[in-house]
Amino acid sequence: MTRTRPLRASRGVLSGRRILVIGVGGLGCPLLLALADSDATLVLCDDDQVDLSNLHRQVLFEASDVGRDKLEAARDALVREGVPNQHIELIHSRLLPENALELARSVDLVVEGADNFATKFLAADACHLAERPIVHGAAVRLDATVWFVPPAGGPCYRCLFEDVPSGAQMGCTEAGVLGPVVGLAGALMAELVLQALSGGEAHVGHLLSIDGRRDRLRRIAIPARASCALCGETPTISEIIETRYTAPSCAA
Ligand SMILES: [Zn+2]
Repeated sequence: MTRTRPLRASRGVLSGRRILVIGVGGLGCPLLLALADSDATLVLCDDDQVDLSNLHRQVLFEASDVGRDKLEAARDALVREGVPNQHIELIHSRLLPENALELARSVDLVVEGADNFATKFLAADACHLAERPIVHGAAVRLDATVWFVPPAGGPCYRCLFEDVPSGAQMGCTEAGVLGPVVGLAGALMAELVLQALSGGEAHVGHLLSIDGRRDRLRRIAIPARASCALCGETPTISEIIETRYTAPSCAA
């Protein structure tokens, strides 16, 4: 009998479902490991290479992967973990205005662990317009946040953050991030994926905040904003326009 590994979703629990994972980094790696037995098709979107400085939190990769295409290394790792090769699809690109809607429409759910605000807003807008649910994740230093936005209505990412911030933002590359905190956040994102695709509540309307200084998990209510440009009463965003997503990086 094959033993189910710990910290994994049950075998076959997401059979036939397709999940787009934007960013195979500190959040995407533990998320993918947690979903490795789920039987979902995992569509991975990234254009980066494995970097030595990230190995402590990008747990799919080993030292021998440094310099390799991140998606190829991730596929090899997932196959070693038992994911059938035909259940892994690689999109060798960042999420872009020209591919975001099509990618969102091609899956049942989107997960974004992107390291910049422009990609996060693009993913949020594309999912709302494509009527797909999305799990957002972010981590920097000792803090991480995770939240689920349903396919219709709000509150959405723009209810909370409104628009891509102007000016450079400090991200995990500059500020650092604690590996166990980002691992916790990635596992929590996987749990929200499971809840959402199993008809669960997935904490709709609540941001889950991990405070690594005090080891606290808080559930913070996020009200829908009537003036939200995406999901409000008179939305102004009805298509993906490239100039909305050109503000500087980088959050995470
Ligand atoms: Zn909104």
